[in-house]
Amino acid sequence: MSNHLFDAIRGTITSEDAIFIETENGRCWTYGDMLLWSGKIAGAIDTLGVRPGDRVAVQVEKSAEALMLYLACIRCGAVYLPLNTAYTLAELDYFIGDAEPRLVVVSPKAADGIAAITSKYDALVETLDENGKGSLIDLAKDEPEDFIDATRGPDDLAAILYTSGTTGRSKGAMLTHDNLLSNALALRAFWRFTPQDRLIHALPIFHTHGLFVATNVTLTSGASMFLLPKFDPAQVLSLMPRATTMMGVPTFYVRLLQNEGLTRDAVAGMRLFISGSAPLLADTHRAFQERTGQAILERYGMTETNMNTSNPYDGKRIAGTVGFPLPGVSIRVTDPETGVSLGQDETGMIEVKGPNVFKGYWRMPEKTKSEFRDDGFFITGDLGKIDPEGYVHIVGRGKDLVISGGYNIYPKEVESEIDMLPGVVESAVIGIAHPDFGEGVTAIVVKRANATIDEQTIFDALKDRLARYKQPKQIIFVEDLPRNTMGKVQKNILREQYSDLYA
Ligand code: ATP
Ligand code: MG
Repeated sequence: MSNHLFDAIRGTITSEDAIFIETENGRCWTYGDMLLWSGKIAGAIDTLGVRPGDRVAVQVEKSAEALMLYLACIRCGAVYLPLNTAYTLAELDYFIGDAEPRLVVVSPKAADGIAAITSKYDALVETLDENGKGSLIDLAKDEPEDFIDATRGPDDLAAILYTSGTTGRSKGAMLTHDNLLSNALALRAFWRFTPQDRLIHALPIFHTHGLFVATNVTLTSGASMFLLPKFDPAQVLSLMPRATTMMGVPTFYVRLLQNEGLTRDAVAGMRLFISGSAPLLADTHRAFQERTGQAILERYGMTETNMNTSNPYDGKRIAGTVGFPLPGVSIRVTDPETGVSLGQDETGMIEVKGPNVFKGYWRMPEKTKSEFRDDGFFITGDLGKIDPEGYVHIVGRGKDLVISGGYNIYPKEVESEIDMLPGVVESAVIGIAHPDFGEGVTAIVVKRANATIDEQTIFDALKDRLARYKQPKQIIFVEDLPRNTMGKVQKNILREQYSDLYA
């Protein structure tokens, strides 16, 4: 009997007394506790009648027990399906109807509301709260200690993870045991994780970053983590002397930089800061390095593919790039229309192939087919280029491309020019329906407090820097850009908000 992912996790354990998780109140979970509790919860799920291949949908707050539930699903062969804690009941109705889980685990306060939904789809409901208590844990307590893992091969489904919904309705990405394991092992080696590492984990665990990257890399290294319910800069700084590494979204780094406690001394014991899920501004990278002496390592991935590229551990970590393809992963850039491979420094569609790439979108065979090339490359939807040194640059999302007067405009090129201007914090460039041009290039800009910069200053500054068709037709100043929990700028919201600008 073998369980592809969990056997690898089990196989890394050298001592059951080694720490896996320390929570913010100082409670420690050893690797022995992990085996015990993931096994007991697996037993409870099995007793409830969940069979291998059945989905277990989970919308719970972050806790060590929630991670045990993920591992329990892997062990009993269920397909783990985490859901964003922000989803409303109406949204859950869509996901539960789409995924048809056998079991839904929610926080006790959501249990009544969810019952109306699950009864339609014949799913069971159990609870788990932010303190790790609930009906699921009560059931687990009565289960024996020695759960026998279900047999699962490399190609069997481990999880269905919904995409963030940045460009449209979230899609369920089917991820296999080997998609997860191969990526964890590649990252472990690339980022040099060892049992001596202690990761600061302040990311949500319903997304690929906090769930698979952070958790599976820690587990397959025999390392440990501080598991924090949310990102609090002061708390994170206070833990750094006892940690070695952190994974964050760009917002974490922006917020750390706003804290005076971020100094060279404060990070002296940290060997690696990783960023991903959204573009890290080159400015943030530089400011962090100036303040701490450490270069943030930026990597690129997506729900469908796990991680694709990473800046090097040794060697130059270049701001504004996402580094090299991970070992075993192939990346190419193609003409979005024809699919023909492009040369160095030419911008086009990023395509990826490797053991990390998902099996397809859940119950969307047509969509799956249209997103893969005949030779197995997945069409990411991200536009980018590969420079002569082999570094991958992301230029933006295909869906964000602005077409004005028949010309293609890559928003990032315009954003980079605006972001360099004194007094500008950041910007988002979008296309808005325009009677003459099809779309009008429009810049939404956040300026620094007290900055004197205005629309005319920006127009003047861009005049000699960008071709006329790339220059914004209008500039709008705002306090903040709308972002989701992963720190992604929600351009769809901006496009909607200003849809009448040129009408
Ligand atoms: P949806 O697919 O539902 O529209 P989404 O693509 O935002 O949402 P995720 O899978 O969470 O959902 O995010 C993957 C995307 O995040 C990538 O395709 C890419 O656009 C972006 N991304 C991830 N890491 C980076 C990075 N380091 N730099 C720039 N963009 C990044
Ligand atoms: Mg996507």
